[in-house]
Amino acid sequence: MEKQYKIIIIGSGPAGLTAAIYAARGGLEPIVISGNQPGGQLMLTSDVENFPGFDEPIKGPVLMERMRRQAERFGTRFIDESITEVDFISILLKIRTGSGGGTGANIGSTDGNLFLTESVIIATGASAIWLGLESEHRLRGKEYRRARPVMAFSLKVKM
Ligand SMILES: Cc1cc2nc3c(=O)[nH]c(=O)nc-3n(C[C@H](O)[C@H](O)[C@H](O)COP(=O)(O)OP(=O)(O)OC[C@H]3O[C@@H](n4cnc5c(N)ncnc54)[C@H](O)[C@@H]3O)c2cc1C
Repeated sequence: MEKQYKIIIIGSGPAGLTAAIYAARGGLEPIVISGNQPGGQLMLTSDVENFPGFDEPIKGPVLMERMRRQAERFGTRFIDESITEVDFISILLKIRTGSGGGTGANIGSTDGNLFLTESVIIATGASAIWLGLESEHRLRGKEYRRARPVMAFSLKVKM
């Protein structure tokens, strides 16, 4: 019989890990399902300059590792799998990882791990839209900058 959890958080970016820190401190023993990008989008960047509490830039992967350790310190557990299926109709919510296809109707009969939980936080974020250039792959995470709203400050300064 599957173990029943109080809360499962889908996604391990800043939103998922913030939820995990609060849930863990609240004694809910959260599980974070990391997805195929553990740490989320900030794993792809170099200097993060707008995170409160850091007067110097911090590397995205370093920031996310620290968030993960903070969540773990309060008892969060991480599962490095992706959710492929959910059933939010039953009172006890069901989510499945792995290769399971199908619909909510046949959850429980497909491949992958099945989790039963009283509540779910979905923090699956987004994916950056890339231009498809070869150099984009090569330079990902290096010291280059995409134009984005959070860069408005430095762009303004340079004008
Ligand atoms: C190159 C780059 C640089 C950036 N720099 C900055 C910056 O300097 N400052 C700033 O404020 N913002 C920056 N951003 C934006 C910032 O990264 C995002 O706003 C932020 O990561 C969103 O956090 P999130 O937790 O909502 O989602 P995300 O970080 O997108 O995380 C989503 C999570 O959901 C998981 N997931 C998705 N589908 C599933 C599934 N089916 N099952 C399980 N898990 C799943 C993924 O694996 C991932 O862990 C940058 C983004 C990029 C791409």
